[in-house]
Amino acid sequence: KNFIQKSFGHWLFCHWTLLVIWCLVIGIYGCRPQRLYKDTQVLMGTFVEVTSPAKEAAGIVFGEIRRIESLLSKYDPDSEVARLNRNGELKVSPETFYVINKSYELWSASSGAFDITIGLLVDLWGFTEKEYYVPTEEEVNDVLELVGMNKIILNPLNNMIKFTIPGIKIDLGAIAKGYAADCAVEKLRESGIQSCLINAGGQVYCLGDKAGSPWKVAVKDPRGSQAIDYLELKNSSVSTSGDYEQYFTKEGKRYSHILNPRTGYPADSGILSVTVIAPSGLTADALSTSIFVLGKEKGMELAKKFPGVKVSIIEKNNKWQN
Ligand code: AMP
Ligand code: MG
Repeated sequence: KNFIQKSFGHWLFCHWTLLVIWCLVIGIYGCRPQRLYKDTQVLMGTFVEVTSPAKEAAGIVFGEIRRIESLLSKYDPDSEVARLNRNGELKVSPETFYVINKSYELWSASSGAFDITIGLLVDLWGFTEKEYYVPTEEEVNDVLELVGMNKIILNPLNNMIKFTIPGIKIDLGAIAKGYAADCAVEKLRESGIQSCLINAGGQVYCLGDKAGSPWKVAVKDPRGSQAIDYLELKNSSVSTSGDYEQYFTKEGKRYSHILNPRTGYPADSGILSVTVIAPSGLTADALSTSIFVLGKEKGMELAKKFPGVKVSIIEKNNKWQN
């Protein structure tokens, strides 16, 4: 009996000891903050920052964004967009066709406020080469003849894009980064990576969460360097369009890079910055630019057409509103 009691006691002791050690291991491991890898590269004319617990995430994101850039960048003479702009017609890849077709839908939904055919106008104001210039009214009106999404033909049967007037130029600066982020997220998911934050110069995608908590994204004060709000996001994208991102001043007047395709002049809708949260990067990116042009009321009406979209606007009177 004594022997049985002794071995039972020994067995119990061993198990308790093992249990305590096991709890300690789990406790220490669980309390340790999750290691996050961070990497940055300049792509699509901006800093692309990737944060993820997966070491290989940054390489996957950079590779995919570089691939999309080589299709859509107007600065790369070999890209499909550059060749289309030069030739006036081109049979493009399904991806380029998809982005241009989405741009067409956005043009239609925004009553022309979002218009990728503003290429020549962006050049005229000097935003392409960063050699800023205030054009004359005549110059603006001449260029407006070559602006308008109704002046291009999209053929979904053979992915052919054709300009009806030679000389039109498209510029995907308001939508390409969002689309590139979506493509990068798809590649991450295919590789089994479920947690990653991509920030491509104000165009953010939050894949999954950060060790069980949402990713935190700062919203910048358009007239200061501080954050004015923090958004907590999982599996969604956030995009900000603001008059502070690219602009120049002449005789005390500020001219920003988002143009009103109707007037040919920088958008002047009373908005300083607009932040859009959407399920996809493409939608967030295109909508933030469109709402910047449309102004608060019409912009909010447009946003209502898109499910799962939230909008925050800072107007000139400096109100932060949802
Ligand atoms: P974002 O920073 O996403 O708002 O995009 C701004 C960029 O989109 C500009 O630098 C131009 O290249 C282009 N853009 C400017 N105005 C418009 C517009 N009304 N519709 C579409 N793209 C535009
Ligand atoms: Mg945009």
